[in-house]
Amino acid sequence: MVEEVVEVKESVSKVLPLISKKSTAIDKNNEMYPEILQALFDHGLMSILAPKEFGGFESYYLASLVAESLAKVNAGVAHSVVVHNATMDALRLFGTKEQKEKWIPKLKKSAGTLAMTEPGGGSDVAAIKMEAKKEGDVYILNGRKTLITNAEFGNVFIVIARAEEGLTAFLTEKDSIVVTKLNASGMRGSGLSSVGFSNVEVAEEDILGGLGKGLKVALGTLAPNRIPFSAMGIGIANRCLEAAIKYAKERSAFGKKVADFQGIQWMLADIVAEIEAVKSLVYTSAKVADGNEEAKLDVTASIDVTTLGAICKLKAAEVAKKAADIAVEIYGGHGVITGSPVERAYRDAKLLDIAEGTSEIMKVIISRKILE
Ligand SMILES: Cc1cc2nc3c(=O)[nH]c(=O)nc-3n(C[C@H](O)[C@H](O)[C@H](O)COP(=O)(O)OP(=O)(O)OC[C@H]3O[C@@H](n4cnc5c(N)ncnc54)[C@H](O)[C@@H]3O)c2cc1C
Repeated sequence: MVEEVVEVKESVSKVLPLISKKSTAIDKNNEMYPEILQALFDHGLMSILAPKEFGGFESYYLASLVAESLAKVNAGVAHSVVVHNATMDALRLFGTKEQKEKWIPKLKKSAGTLAMTEPGGGSDVAAIKMEAKKEGDVYILNGRKTLITNAEFGNVFIVIARAEEGLTAFLTEKDSIVVTKLNASGMRGSGLSSVGFSNVEVAEEDILGGLGKGLKVALGTLAPNRIPFSAMGIGIANRCLEAAIKYAKERSAFGKKVADFQGIQWMLADIVAEIEAVKSLVYTSAKVADGNEEAKLDVTASIDVTTLGAICKLKAAEVAKKAADIAVEIYGGHGVITGSPVERAYRDAKLLDIAEGTSEIMKVIISRKILE
């Protein structure tokens, strides 16, 4: 594992300068630049959760490492990578040999999307309305999905629709899908879009995980992938912490450095303690999701990967929001001005509460488990 960590860290270090250089433009223009996407593919960061036989690592620990490092610089790019790897993971977990051979090479060249949320609602996945009607040996998809990460530039869609036998996951390409880009407040550049399906034909062989098994595919993919998603919160929080420390040491008030006020010191101490606590939680959970037996001894025996993923996401969103809040506070008025090092993080952090299931839904998942 140590060698793989070194390899992945090296890959990350090769793309970070480019992302860093473009970060302000990504946010300002809500744009994922093709050269960044290409660099992410070229350096293997879009294959972390690909099956090993396709050059992947199959590791949520490594996926978390990537997500944290990228989010420290740019959360929109990090989210794009997390969702793409989750798409790879869905194929690894639920795809047949033939489906992997057909779809993974496509996912090594173009971003993947997981299309579940509809304009009528996202939390209640079981209530999905998009229709999949069988006609001969194809299914015809009609309906609308919204808030879909990567849909702007991605080409591979895993879309959950309702067939006669129940919710089903379909693999399809963008060809006949109409995409409308959305202008979110944070995590910009992640290709967040609304997508319309009007008589889109999908072959029976492109059903992922079996007819009527769409809920299992959706929830089974989201559950462990909330762990790398949570690692983004650590990255955002550390970005805020570093900026706040630097500013507090430079800025003066009442004849002292801001960092010399105990009120400021305690804010920083609190947040660093919380970041480290969440970091331990996320990386231990990632090891558990990777099947590491020793790590399993470090978590409460009755807590499974789904619950761990929900706990990670809940706490990571909290720590990112708190760190962003403290950083803006320490920057004072300068913290709320567009272009300040912390105001983008403030906008990014809130989205962690919502994407991949809201914090309320994370509490539903956790409480369901402890009360069962
Ligand atoms: C940046 C971003 C990226 C996203 N990417 C994707 C993507 O790639 N693919 C995709 O399919 N979706 C994606 N989403 C959508 C996301 O999954 C949904 O926004 C989320 O699941 C909530 O659904 P909703 O917005 O329809 O809110 P609703 O489900 O309408 O919920 C509204 C409010 O009610 C609360 N609520 C709902 N049910 C309960 C309950 N049982 N108990 C307590 N409170 C409840 C919610 O927590 C929320 O506060 C993304 C969203 C964002 C912001």
